[in-house]
Amino acid sequence: MATVSLLPKDRADLSQIMKVAEAQPARDAKPSLLGMTREELGQALADVGVEDRQIRMRTAQLWHWMYLRGAASFDAMTNVSKDMRAALAERYTIGRPEIVTEQISVDGTRKWLFRFPARGAGRPVEVETVYIPEEGRGTLCVSSQVGCTLTCSFCHTGTQKLVRNLTREEIVAQIVVARERLGDFPEVAANARKDAEGLLPSEGRLVTNIVMMGMGEPLYNFDNVREALLIASDGDGLSLSKRRITLSTSGVVPMIPRAGAEIGTMLAISLHAVRDDLRDELVPLNRKYPIAELLDACRAYPGLSNARRITFEYVMLKGINDSPADARELVRLLKGIPAKINLIPFNPWPGSAYECSDWDEIETFAEVVNRAGYASPIRTPRGRDILAACGQLKSASERLRVRERMALEAMIGGGGED
Ligand code: SF4
Repeated sequence: MATVSLLPKDRADLSQIMKVAEAQPARDAKPSLLGMTREELGQALADVGVEDRQIRMRTAQLWHWMYLRGAASFDAMTNVSKDMRAALAERYTIGRPEIVTEQISVDGTRKWLFRFPARGAGRPVEVETVYIPEEGRGTLCVSSQVGCTLTCSFCHTGTQKLVRNLTREEIVAQIVVARERLGDFPEVAANARKDAEGLLPSEGRLVTNIVMMGMGEPLYNFDNVREALLIASDGDGLSLSKRRITLSTSGVVPMIPRAGAEIGTMLAISLHAVRDDLRDELVPLNRKYPIAELLDACRAYPGLSNARRITFEYVMLKGINDSPADARELVRLLKGIPAKINLIPFNPWPGSAYECSDWDEIETFAEVVNRAGYASPIRTPRGRDILAACGQLKSASERLRVRERMALEAMIGGGGED
């Protein structure tokens, strides 16, 4: 694979920033161990002849190599016998997706376009994953679907029809490969930081937080997202605290209690409007699950406290949802919910119908919300030069024919009826 060089922060010619990594060879068709539960790994080991009494210990070894050490091949697993490595390599892979592009913004934000195999119908698919470094933390924004069934009118991804759900392996792979490319597995972290001075957190882990806010609606791919996030938060492997993982939904109300009970991460809601008529337009799922129902589900989310608040995302659209009256209504609606409000200056994309609110309007809005006692950080737009900002992700994966897509949509679990 080609290396990607970092350019000085003040380099003006943004077109120079994009570096295209060499495509990796297409993966073979063997099943991957990445994304398997411990039980499934145990079965995989049994299938290559590991004795029952050794399964637990061998499973722990594989888990350690894949998620703590970031091993990309069985050969790297030096405390596993040669025979077993060969037997595993014959039937399984822990291969990586093809990295189509890796872009690095002047502000250190990185965006990868990953290509995954077709999995039955259609062609290989591409998804985007974004890394946002900040002082003392690094957030990875992970995709859950290729495209999206929802058509939020301010969102670029929403213009790309759903191609398919990502598997849990593909969701986990985004995290593992991003950490690998950043040098966030222990042996290589120091060098990566040295090379990327000023563009990565100066100490600690590089990926400290995960947000399921990339392409797709995670609660329409519930089972895969749950299994992937349970792997991400497993203390013997990737080991990210559930308090540092946020699942963001546009408001699939029936799945919110299950997300709380079965995944238990932090929750974010793409709210964006305080009246149903406007939210029906901005987030069409609102016609099915209106604001009052959505907020009831939020009130019942388990474990809420001032230290464990729900984040409400609010994109600032000029003349649409940004008046002081809107801010006051927001405060009224959120009463009784431990909440944080993220104000997101709108990031225009080619063909979008909205403009970003003026800075004064955003500040006035923030002031109303702040005065009511809610933290309301204004999210600095990141990675604008590489279209990595919120709502700008869109891959060029081929759309499936309508019939194929309907069949796939019908397969989506839980709230997949839209
Ligand atoms: S905001 Fe999220 S749910 Fe809405 S269209 Fe975009 S990706 Fe889909």
